[in-house]
Amino acid sequence: MKLVQFRAGDYEAVGLLEGGSVIDLSRAIDIQVMVHGWFSPVPPLADVGTISGLLELGTFDVSWVREVREFVKAHGLESELRLSVKDVTLLAPIARPTRIIALGLNYAAHAAEGGRKPPKEPIFFLKASTAVVGPDEPVVCPQNVGRIDHEVELAVVIAREGRRIPRAKAHEYIAGYTIMNDVTARDMQRRDMAASNPWFLSKSFDTFAPMGPCLVLPDEIQEPVELDLSLRVNGVTKQKSNTRQLIFKIPDLIHRFSKHITLLPGDVISTGTPDGISPIKPGDVMEAEVRGIGVLRNPVVAGK
Ligand code: MG
Repeated sequence: MKLVQFRAGDYEAVGLLEGGSVIDLSRAIDIQVMVHGWFSPVPPLADVGTISGLLELGTFDVSWVREVREFVKAHGLESELRLSVKDVTLLAPIARPTRIIALGLNYAAHAAEGGRKPPKEPIFFLKASTAVVGPDEPVVCPQNVGRIDHEVELAVVIAREGRRIPRAKAHEYIAGYTIMNDVTARDMQRRDMAASNPWFLSKSFDTFAPMGPCLVLPDEIQEPVELDLSLRVNGVTKQKSNTRQLIFKIPDLIHRFSKHITLLPGDVISTGTPDGISPIKPGDVMEAEVRGIGVLRNPVVAGK
């Protein structure tokens, strides 16, 4: 199953993406609460209008979503709750992640293109949540900051709070998977690294974290996660790899991060980019693709 955060006019909700249509899951939950008076996973006044709100309930999992979908079918609500994907705007699945936990040099070929050795420990860093934009939203490149690069990445969304999570239990903490383009002000990052300073700013400009187009639930993507990923600029392929090339795999990342820091629902772990990074400029169109998730398309525009 694939969840989307969508807008239709002034209305915003969570939907289930099924081919060319979206089933309004938020409305389905509202109806379910009305019909049953009490639907156990959803407390009264809970925010069921956003994927983030559903994650905050702490009860989110695939079987729960399946139960709501079956309710829609059993009560003949499909025609009432179905919208055409053409009539809605898809938004970033998580508009303001609790944190964006990103990875440096998690593909050997990308480490090599920067003249670096593969790391022995994962290189975690944070990227500002305010950088998130959705599908088709522009990435704004300010002038006078030099080179700006695309970085296609598989991102993992965390479903529930956890600390000291064993690798074998990591899957219990995964809400689903999406695509992130970890846009980077490369010249600024290199200057900061050369001066042994953190490179937070170069990763965190507004619009530098396109995310989407959907959240694929773990019923469609199982461990080990081996998905083709690629990035095209103006139709020309620049990055092309498979997540089996990740140096530190997803269960290992969840284990090692949570050894020291509590993971929270709504955290996004962006697993790192393969080789082929290249500069972008205003007028370009980026298409980040992960097989089984979709295509995340963003135009590049000039900023001040
Ligand atoms: Mg990256």
